[in-house]
Amino acid sequence: MTDDTWGRICQDLEKTIGKNNFVTWIAPLEFRALEDGVARFGVPTSFVGDWVNRNFGDRILEQLARNGVPVDRLEFSVAAGRSGADRHAQKPAAAQPQADAKAEADMPGAPLDARFTFDTFVTGKPNELAHAAARRVGEGGAVTFNPLFLYGGVGLGKTHLMHAIAWELRERAPEKTVVYLSAEQFMYRFVQALRERDMMGFKSLFRSVDVLMVDDVQFIAGKDSTQEEFFHTFNALVDQNKQIVISADRAPGEIKDLEERIKSRLQCGLVVDLHPTDYELRLGILQQKVDLYRMQYPGLVICDGVLEFLAHRISTNVRVLEGALTRLFAFASLVGKEITLELAQDCLADILRATDRKVTIEEIQRKVSEHYNMRLADMIGPKRHRTIARPRQIAMWLSKQLTQRSLPEIGRRFGGRDHTTVMHAVKRIEELRGSDPQIAEDLELLRRMLEA
Ligand code: ADP
Ligand code: MG
Repeated sequence: MTDDTWGRICQDLEKTIGKNNFVTWIAPLEFRALEDGVARFGVPTSFVGDWVNRNFGDRILEQLARNGVPVDRLEFSVAAGRSGADRHAQKPAAAQPQADAKAEADMPGAPLDARFTFDTFVTGKPNELAHAAARRVGEGGAVTFNPLFLYGGVGLGKTHLMHAIAWELRERAPEKTVVYLSAEQFMYRFVQALRERDMMGFKSLFRSVDVLMVDDVQFIAGKDSTQEEFFHTFNALVDQNKQIVISADRAPGEIKDLEERIKSRLQCGLVVDLHPTDYELRLGILQQKVDLYRMQYPGLVICDGVLEFLAHRISTNVRVLEGALTRLFAFASLVGKEITLELAQDCLADILRATDRKVTIEEIQRKVSEHYNMRLADMIGPKRHRTIARPRQIAMWLSKQLTQRSLPEIGRRFGGRDHTTVMHAVKRIEELRGSDPQIAEDLELLRRMLEA
């Protein structure tokens, strides 16, 4: 192939992928050679090579073939003597691929899961705030809170919501460049850019997005230079009034080994947590999944009480719940049986056993006394001062909630107290839970710690 032919192909490519994309990605390519069905190109950085290959590879092959140069494969190697950083510096707009390129890959981001949309997200009390905030961001209107920080335990729907935002934005604001990636991928990109001395490219790429979503940001805790770079990217985008969405497994302030200034930056926007699922939400999710499966297996029969049983017994996280249902369906359709309670118990014995972790009264007493800075012995001792009696009541309430023990039994474990004392404590805490937000928060926290 002559340089002329490549020139002609370039003209065709420019027409199909648009001028912006062309200038950014194709113009920097330097055609080197064609041997054994492989077309070799020099690229300023391997990032450009990867990107071109992923997003425009097929089109380049197609144009080559059209111009009478059938090629099996493209190969990109970094051109010696060229500095990637310089090239990017001249083109700050380097990272603005147009919509057609975006449709194939999300900039440097990760692919989106087609199942994770708002349509398939079941809402309930534990996640309604997070859902509402995500919806708002998905509308793509003016940035009202920045960043949106979503946190919560494993399998509670953080990733699902972030993908849903991205899908929604694609629909409603296709002109926006939306990048979703995990903090791990962010770090990988960063390290790659360092290695290739292409920090300019990295920076201009991330600073040119309209919406940046970084999942599982706790991952960068303790990784100092990645944190630093994340912080700069974050600030640059906030300054440009670009939307940022972050997720983590805990609140910003509770992420260990994360710089203070990053913590406080992360707290600037809206921080919402996904609470552990409650029974109603789990049942809702199961029902939705069943509806979806029904389309796949129309003959499926689920007996009454099975979903309720699962929602009641599998309270860890939604992923486990889904896994249980999938297995149940697979099994039932294989053996051609209807799904009864017995079948479910049989088929899911291991999952049910694993989630059956029993919280003990001793554990509750220990956690509560730690939380309120009191001696464990005072849990069962006679002291009646409020600073001790109140935590004791809380421990009794938790014992009632989290264990199967009867009131008299709980009383016995609290230094031989009467069951009416326990009953009174449970009632009192129940009242306070409604009227005192501090207590409500403490209860929630303790419950989470104990159930974890
Ligand atoms: P996280 O990122 O918080 O660990 P994911 O978003 O990956 O959790 O969710 C785990 C699984 O549970 C996914 O398959 C997701 O679709 C499902 N899931 C979680 N919450 C919901 C919900 N409210 N409605 C429907 N599916 C949910
Ligand atoms: Mg996740």
